[in-house]
Amino acid sequence: MQPGRIPIVILGAGPAGLGAAYRLSRHEAFDVTVVERGAGVGGNAGSFPLAGMQVDYGSHRLHPSCAPEILTDIRGMLGDGLLDRPRHGRIRLRGRWVHFPLKPADLALHLPPAFLAGVAVDTVRKLAPRGRADTFAAVLQQGLGPTICRDFYFPYARKIWGVDPELLEAEQARRRVSAGSLLKMARKVLNAVPGFKKKGGGRFYYPKDGFGAISEAYRQAAEARGASFLFRTTVAGVEAAGGTVRAVHVSAPDGVRRLDARQTLSTIPVSQLARLMDPAAPDAVQASACALKFRAMILIYLLLETAQFTEYDAHYFPDADVLITRLSEPKNYSLAPNPGRTVLCAELPCSVDDPVWRASDQELRDLVTQALERAGLPVRCRVLEVSSRKLSQAYPIYTQDYRANFERIDQWLDGIEGIVTFGRQGLFAHDNTHHALAMAYALDGCLGSDGSLDRKAWTGCRREFEKHVVED
Ligand SMILES: Cc1cc2nc3c(=O)[nH]c(=O)nc-3n(C[C@H](O)[C@H](O)[C@H](O)COP(=O)(O)OP(=O)(O)OC[C@H]3O[C@@H](n4cnc5c(N)ncnc54)[C@H](O)[C@@H]3O)c2cc1C
Repeated sequence: MQPGRIPIVILGAGPAGLGAAYRLSRHEAFDVTVVERGAGVGGNAGSFPLAGMQVDYGSHRLHPSCAPEILTDIRGMLGDGLLDRPRHGRIRLRGRWVHFPLKPADLALHLPPAFLAGVAVDTVRKLAPRGRADTFAAVLQQGLGPTICRDFYFPYARKIWGVDPELLEAEQARRRVSAGSLLKMARKVLNAVPGFKKKGGGRFYYPKDGFGAISEAYRQAAEARGASFLFRTTVAGVEAAGGTVRAVHVSAPDGVRRLDARQTLSTIPVSQLARLMDPAAPDAVQASACALKFRAMILIYLLLETAQFTEYDAHYFPDADVLITRLSEPKNYSLAPNPGRTVLCAELPCSVDDPVWRASDQELRDLVTQALERAGLPVRCRVLEVSSRKLSQAYPIYTQDYRANFERIDQWLDGIEGIVTFGRQGLFAHDNTHHALAMAYALDGCLGSDGSLDRKAWTGCRREFEKHVVED
């Protein structure tokens, strides 16, 4: 650390931590250190090499609703490396393929007639008065009617979060389903029609070297401004004295270290942070930390001996009998040249307690090929290689008691000076990458030149973050 500078320690090098490192390292007065347990940057939004291509942890795209200031920074860092691509996916609905994003002509041609009739009846019935909706199921039933819920959202929700839609909080629907009413869905469908198209509608940004290139660019820019990165380094404790955080204890391959910190900015899971605090959190806070649950995910990659598996970027599978939720073909996102070879990435949400979490790659390969067979997408070429990656914290699960548990931890942390929790894991939010970056930029605006947090301004920002709605 350089003498006389204010030590700022950032926990986690996902987009939220990197965005903060990039913004804060502009300030001469700050000495910024990022602590990351992984070998590189990006967190869940990172990439890694596989058979000559960069692949992501499941389908990742930069949504055009990204704040202009952030998009300008990303463009500035990646230049021509940021591709502007049309979305071209498919949903398997009652045994038929429907284009995603939804398109009027495609819907008319491919939607199962019984489904169309059901939606028409639901649209008329929606004119009837409605009661209060306090579960995920009730919000979507009211907004979209029973047909879309029964055939798409409910089975998909059960697979993704592992919980019955009646047991999920209403907030999960508001934050997680951007087309939560028939009107919003109709607008999305119209978005595919020239003349009605919103700016950016039906398109996405994607770095040609994989989604993780965004995180890598932020790291390089922050490092160029003097930020330091400690990789393969795990936060082992956060030391407070007199109600103020003074230091972070970290465990690295070369031993344990204590990092002085005037301000600690944490993007690690808030439940983990609560458990790492020293002195220890009260029992009720510890209990809430145990009660907050994340859904895990296994990503299974198949290297195929074929130039292209399908022309689509992603396939979505709501049906319960197809175990995976989504299949992406990274080559179709990045236009990566890799003659004669392509990679598929299958997403399998699960719990870390499920037996499948410990399945071998061979077993996972069989699971994926069987799922694809069932979905009408048999793998007919040779599978040259299979590998898998595991995310233990893929999605927060908003059970009915999540809010009380999150607020108990949040309020307790709020009473301690010198620590701020933010990012997707830090605020237990479903947010996209551009939301995590927006939090980091906002936090930069709330830190004084001495590193102190303007709490009133940050409270205002937190209220804004609650309006984030995930874009798929
Ligand atoms: C399957 C899937 C698909 C997605 N698709 C999209 C998409 O298309 N578009 C989009 O914008 N977003 C997408 N997202 C969301 C995106 O991944 C997140 O918004 C983003 O990763 C959030 O960044 P973060 O920094 O808040 O958290 P994370 O990326 O989770 O970063 C947290 C970091 O903290 C580190 N950490 C945790 N504990 C410790 C510890 N004790 N010590 C040190 N380090 C620690 C982790 O290793 C990690 O690097 C998707 C997410 C998933 C799971």
